Amino acid sequence: MPAISSDKPYRIGRSKTGLGLFATKPIKKGTKIIRYFGPMLDCRKEKDDAIENKYLFQINGRWTIDGSVRKNIARYINHSCRPNAESDVSARKRTVHIRAIKNIAPGEEINYDYGTEYFKEYLKPIGCKCDSCERKRAKQRAEARAAKTSTAKPAAKVKKAKAAKPAAKAKSKVASVSSKSRAPKAASNRRAGAKSAAPAKASPKKRARAA
Ligand SMILES: [Zn+2]
Repeated sequence: MPAISSDKPYRIGRSKTGLGLFATKPIKKGTKIIRYFGPMLDCRKEKDDAIENKYLFQINGRWTIDGSVRKNIARYINHSCRPNAESDVSARKRTVHIRAIKNIAPGEEINYDYGTEYFKEYLKPIGCKCDSCERKRAKQRAEARAAKTSTAKPAAKVKKAKAAKPAAKAKSKVASVSSKSRAPKAASNRRAGAKSAAPAKASPKKRARAA
């Protein structure tokens, strides 16, 4: 163990999509892990409403946290469709905490669900990279391979199936979809008034940072 140890039960580390937040100690279900914080934006102020980035976390119809500040370590937490934590929003106090919904073991990545709105707008077009979705895709690929090999003759066909990677296709879509839709989508995301809103955050930016 390092001499300078923090009492925080997490650290920033490499994840599949760039960087992520990982448990360094056992975290009990129900524990508040970290606060998601940053300047408070008031959508009634033109200046605030004009701010766009991937780390906006809508608290209610009026207030949004700009989580893009460096000190907001919670911005490193990635989305998962089967998460081990959740975002706990207090609209009255205008605070957001990330809370464990399962016991989390040291080394495990901490995730929460960014919400359906965020998923539809940012993750679905590029393909969600969370463990649960990766497993689903792997299973589908295996089933597709099995179906092909069972109906056709071996060697040649199998090779072809391998070359046609569905993942590559999904990736090539990323650039056009995200660049075209970033500004208007983020804005609509903020204004939509989602109850358990999600921070506007996506992997492309984090990947760039990590590189
Ligand atoms: Zn997923």
